[in-house]
Amino acid sequence: MRLSRYFLPVLKENPSEAQIVSHRLMLRAGLIKQSAAGIYSWLPMGFKILRKLENIVHEEQARAGHLAMLMPTIQSADLWHESGRYDAFGDEMLRIKDRGGREMLFTPTAEELITDIFRSHVSSYKDLPLTMYQIQWKFRDEVRPRFGVMRGREFLMKDGYNFDLTKEDALHAYNRHLVSYLRTYERMGLQAIPMRADSGAMGGDDTHEFLVLAETGESEVFYDSAVTDLSFGDREIDYSSVEDCAAVMEEFTTKYARTDETHDEALFNEVPEERRRTARGIEVGQIFYFGTKYSEAMGATVQGPDGKNQPVHMGSHGIGVSRLLGAIIEASHDDKGIIWPEGVTPFHAGIVNLKQGDAEADAACEALYSALTLMGLEPLYDDRNERAGGKFASMDLVGLPWRITVGPRGLKNGVVELTSRRTGESEEMPPEAAVQKLG
Ligand code: ATP
Ligand code: MG
Ligand code: MG
Ligand code: MG
Repeated sequence: MRLSRYFLPVLKENPSEAQIVSHRLMLRAGLIKQSAAGIYSWLPMGFKILRKLENIVHEEQARAGHLAMLMPTIQSADLWHESGRYDAFGDEMLRIKDRGGREMLFTPTAEELITDIFRSHVSSYKDLPLTMYQIQWKFRDEVRPRFGVMRGREFLMKDGYNFDLTKEDALHAYNRHLVSYLRTYERMGLQAIPMRADSGAMGGDDTHEFLVLAETGESEVFYDSAVTDLSFGDREIDYSSVEDCAAVMEEFTTKYARTDETHDEALFNEVPEERRRTARGIEVGQIFYFGTKYSEAMGATVQGPDGKNQPVHMGSHGIGVSRLLGAIIEASHDDKGIIWPEGVTPFHAGIVNLKQGDAEADAACEALYSALTLMGLEPLYDDRNERAGGKFASMDLVGLPWRITVGPRGLKNGVVELTSRRTGESEEMPPEAAVQKLG
């Protein structure tokens, strides 16, 4: 992409309405634009990153054997009356009437709708296990929308639902989700720690939230510092293996890690004192096992091997896809701007032409642009007629992992400069070597 043809409305000044760094940087880097409280437009670069996050989620869900689908954002209230949540959800639910006076709502989550789909089409245990998910916009009329996309009213969520014959099967689905979520967040360059939490309005017994540690997080968390040493890495996992998934669950959830909702001071005090941590965290996902709560209320039953009808065991699993953009920035930035992890960066490298219009510099930039593109990488070429200082500032602000700086002086010696955004280290090398290093 050539910056002269892109839409990247970078702001020079700090927007006064933004209280935290991720919100500030998302506005300054031209990623989003607020349209109403807690409701945002996603500008081209912000949208590109959002898509990258979605892709990672899709890939990891597919790997775990879960089926992608899509449900509507506007739903009839009927199903919600059936489950009893129409009233229970309270003011966070945006209620709408259509022209016929029928009660509708903008979906805040989709347990009811998916359970209805399930009961309409599945009647035998032979069709189980089944896990389906979607990545769809949700609306919750939050009391205090704030911090940009971190607590929006409209936000993008991955929500998945498992249907199983027995509690054991459903707990396998729970563990499978834990594993796939660990992989998902790590690919985004994030450490998200599973913590025992409270099931709140969802109901149910088992639930873990995934938290990214950050001072600006809205949750208070308590943990054994040893949990921060754990990482899933690139190990192979057989998602169909009950034992393998259970082993990961055990490894990642045995040490003390809880949100304030379930915090237990006595248990916490059993952790060696030098490892006890109290901190703040951003909730980027949550998994639930809630048994037969919805299937009983809504008659989602299957015929078991014994010929008897029984309600299915269910769970639901959410990832805050749009919130993740903010969480990644909170975890990865410096005073110059964003530092995108390689896995989610909107462009792989920036090319800065120090002297636009200089025949040699222009030609060298074009050659770099083509070479990187041919390798399947996406460069962002700053081909504007601007001062070098301004170009550097914009590149640092938008946070691409690499910058290649091209100028007449370097070219006389046959070199360009390759700079790492994260370390700030620069190295001079021939253009071909820079291309090779990024490949
Ligand atoms: P929170 O405690 O932050 O209000 P929640 O527990 O109500 O979140 P869930 O129902 O667990 O949210 O939804 C799944 C995920 O969706 C959350 O883990 C979070 O990452 C994301 N999410 C929830 N509410 C919002 C919001 N208002 N804006 C952006 N993302 C959100
Ligand atoms: Mg909430
Ligand atoms: Mg929560
Ligand atoms: Mg939650």
